[in-house]
Amino acid sequence: MMAAVLEAPGKMTPREVEDPVCPDGGLILKVEACSICSTDVKMLRHGQRDLIYPRILGHEIAGVVHEADCVGSRVGERVQAFPGVFCGRCPSCRRGAENMCELVRILGFNLDGGFAEYLQIPGDSVRNGSVFPIPDGVKSEEATLAEPLACCINAQELAGVGEDDSVLVFGAGPAGNLHAMLARKRGASMVAMAEPLEERVNLARSTGADLLVNSRKEDLRVRAEEATDGRGFDVIILASRDVAVDDDLLALLAPRGRLSLFSGLPRSLAAPRLDLNHLHYREKLVVGSYGCTPAQNRGALELISSGSFDAGWLITERVSLGEISKGMEHAEGREGLKAVVTEFGR
Ligand SMILES: [Zn+2]
Ligand SMILES: [Zn+2]
Repeated sequence: MMAAVLEAPGKMTPREVEDPVCPDGGLILKVEACSICSTDVKMLRHGQRDLIYPRILGHEIAGVVHEADCVGSRVGERVQAFPGVFCGRCPSCRRGAENMCELVRILGFNLDGGFAEYLQIPGDSVRNGSVFPIPDGVKSEEATLAEPLACCINAQELAGVGEDDSVLVFGAGPAGNLHAMLARKRGASMVAMAEPLEERVNLARSTGADLLVNSRKEDLRVRAEEATDGRGFDVIILASRDVAVDDDLLALLAPRGRLSLFSGLPRSLAAPRLDLNHLHYREKLVVGSYGCTPAQNRGALELISSGSFDAGWLITERVSLGEISKGMEHAEGREGLKAVVTEFGR
């Protein structure tokens, strides 16, 4: 089969590899769409501590079941695959935090992923209910957005985004836009976005956000004060890797406000000095989030399938496996939003 193989950091080659065999109790998917995530770009450019080469990346996956070694054959079914393969028994799994599983493995990370014609889905994924049918009428490329949306759901659940909250999202990339739309869906009374690139500010209009701030040209503090009558935001979500978490940022939070660390931060920004008494006196919370659970993935796919959450506009580039470097550049170039591999031949 054809696959885009990451041979070493910086070197991804579309080439012929051996077909995968159907694992015990698992499935072989014929991939129909696999979206490119900023994590894929990061792994391509800089490698990753846990990567063993060669590796096929891609964790935002939709396809058709091609072979099945499980009870009740699912051959021919169109599905979206949750990429985490977890144990189901450890303390985190038992608490419904499968993304924190001690033994978790991830498709497109430490198992081969979806930038390939065919993909192996382990038996554990099938047994744990991590393979979701895609309803008719939902395109496979749209279904791939369930995974990134589920990551946003995880962050917003942990930060308690709900009715009447005012929410500020930093970053109008694919995740930032999903966050803005999701916050509205969860009942936020006001949604603001801050983004330094004009093209992305313009694209973000489709989210229906109440306030779009070009953070390079405008004074965010002034706009935030106007927008919240000086009270600050109930929730701030960092969907950008280059926002400094400092006392000025915490000052933008209302009393009992929550700061969601959705994006991983580069080393230079990851160890700030903060006045923790400010958190103490104003009862503010800082909360991390990383990945998502299968239940959140299911919820995300349901939301996309409901017809009331249009995420399809986020897809601004479609490429074949042979052109995957073009897709990576699209994701990296930040002029558009999401690139998806939709053709898997040569
Ligand atoms: Zn991702
Ligand atoms: Zn576990």
